[in-house]
Amino acid sequence: MVSRVIPVDPFDLVIFGGTGDLARRKILPGLYRRFVAGQMPEDARIIGAARSDLADESYRADIREALVEFIGKGKLSEEQMAAFLSRLHYVAIDATGESGWKALAALMRENVVRAFYFSVAPGLFGELAERLHAHGVANSESRIVIEKPFGRDLESARELNRTLAAHFDETQIYRIDHYLGKETVQNLMAVRFGNVLFEPLWNSQYVDHIQITVAETVGVGGRGGYYDRSGAMRDMVQNHLMQLLCLIAMEPPARFEPDEVRDEKLKVIRALEPVERDDIVRGQYAAKGKIASYHADVDDDDSITESFIAMKLHVSNWRWAGTPFYVRTGKRLRARQSEIAVVFKDAPHSIFGAAAGRHRNILTIRLQPNEGMTLGVTIKEPGPGGMRLVDVPLDMSFADALGPDADEIPEAYERLVMDVMRGNQTLFMRGDEVEAAWAWTDPIIEGWERREDAPVPYEPGSSGPEESAMLLHRENRRWREIRE
Ligand code: NAD
Repeated sequence: MVSRVIPVDPFDLVIFGGTGDLARRKILPGLYRRFVAGQMPEDARIIGAARSDLADESYRADIREALVEFIGKGKLSEEQMAAFLSRLHYVAIDATGESGWKALAALMRENVVRAFYFSVAPGLFGELAERLHAHGVANSESRIVIEKPFGRDLESARELNRTLAAHFDETQIYRIDHYLGKETVQNLMAVRFGNVLFEPLWNSQYVDHIQITVAETVGVGGRGGYYDRSGAMRDMVQNHLMQLLCLIAMEPPARFEPDEVRDEKLKVIRALEPVERDDIVRGQYAAKGKIASYHADVDDDDSITESFIAMKLHVSNWRWAGTPFYVRTGKRLRARQSEIAVVFKDAPHSIFGAAAGRHRNILTIRLQPNEGMTLGVTIKEPGPGGMRLVDVPLDMSFADALGPDADEIPEAYERLVMDVMRGNQTLFMRGDEVEAAWAWTDPIIEGWERREDAPVPYEPGSSGPEESAMLLHRENRRWREIRE
C-alpha cells in the first residue's frame, strides 16, 4: 500500500490520567503503533499527568508493562520500544488542587502543538479546563480532548459545554466518540459518497429498514457502579449508536470537512421523532449457571437500570419517511458483534414466481469482529434443474482485500489522537450535536424514571429479551442473527 498519510506537526501531548486504565490500554499502545508506523514527528513528546508521585523512569517502566500487556511481547521491538519510551515524561498533578501545575507549565514548549487529553473521571473535566487556563499551560492554539461520558443529561452537557467554552474555542475542543475512529465507519462514508451505486438507492423508496446492532458478551464487570447510574441508553445509545445512525442517515455534505459533516449529522438528530413506548424494549440480564445476574453484578437487587435496549426509530425527513431504523445494544449477549445492516426492499415484481422465494439485497457494515462490508446479491443457483435463486455475499473484508497491510489499519484511538494533532475535527462531536442527542434522549429516560419502569429479564448468551424479537416480528421483519 502506498502511504499518503498527512504529516503531523511536532507536539506536546499531555495525558491527564496517564496512569489510568484507558491511557494504559488504548491511548499509549495506540501512540506506540503510530510511532512505529513513522507518523510521530521527531521531537513529539508525551507527558503523563496523574496524581501518583512518579519519576519519569518509573512512569516509563509502567507504560512498558502496559505495552507488553496490551500489544503483546511478540509484536514489540525492544529498540523501538526504548525509542518510544524516551519520548515519555511524567508530572504529578492534582486536577482539583494547585500542586504540579507550575511544573507542567515549565515543561511545555513554544511553537509546537499543545494537546491535553482528559482521560480522567468526567467530574474533573471542568476543573482541568479552568486550571489549564488559570496556570497559563494552555494557549489559544491548544487542543483539548474530552472522553465520554459527555454529561448525563442535557443540563449537565450544557453546563460542561459552557465551562469548556469559557476557556476554549469550539475549534479547540475534541469530543471523542471512538466509534467514529473505526475504519469501517469511515469506510461507510467512502462507500456512500465515493460510489455512484449506492446513493440513488439510499432512501425510503428502496430501503425497507436499517438495523444497527452493538452486542457485547461481557457483563458490567468492574464498572458496575458507573454503569448502574447510566444504563445502555446513556452509555451506548446517546453517543455511539446515535453517531452510527447519523452517518447512515445524513445527507451528503458538500465537502468532507468538519463542520460540513457535523452540520449534516446534527440535522439527523434533530429529525429524530420521539419514540413511542411500544417501540422500546428494555432488558436486564438474569443469572445463568455460573454467570451472575445484573443485580448481583451491581450489588443492588432493586436496580431498574437496563443492560439491553432495542428501539424502533424514525428519522422524519423526505429521505427516510416510512423507513424504520431498528437499533439494539446490550451486554451478556450471544456474541461480540457490531454491525449496521441496510436492508433493501424486494424487487418490485418477481419474474421467477413464488417458488423462487423472497430475496433481498442487504448491505452489511461490520464494525467487529472482522471489520468489513458485505453486499448480499441474488444469483442463479448454479447447475441444471431450472431457475433457482440463491443469495451470495459480495464480500469485502479489509484483512482479505488489503492483505498483510491490514495489520497497519490504525485502531480507533490512535487514528483519533493523530487527528487531534493534525487539527482535524471531522471525526469528533461538536457541542451542539451532543446537546441535541441528549435533548432527544432525556424525555425517554425521564419517562422511565417517573414511571419506575422495570426492564424485562433476559438470559445471558441470548439475543436479548423475547420482546425485542417481537418489535420486528409484528412488522414481518426480523433481526439479523447475533453470532460469532
Ligand atoms: P481510571 O480510574 O483507570 O484512571 C483515572 C486516572 O485519573 C488515573 O491516572 C488517576 O491517577 C487520575 N486522577 C484521578 N484523580 C485525579 C486528580 N484529582 N488529579 C489528577 N489525576 C487524577 O479511569 P479510566 O478507566 O482510565 O477512565 C478515564 C476516562 O476515560 C473517564 O472519563 C472514563 O469515563 C473514560 N473512558 C474510559 C474507558 C475505558 O475503557 N477505561 C472507555 C471510554 C471512556
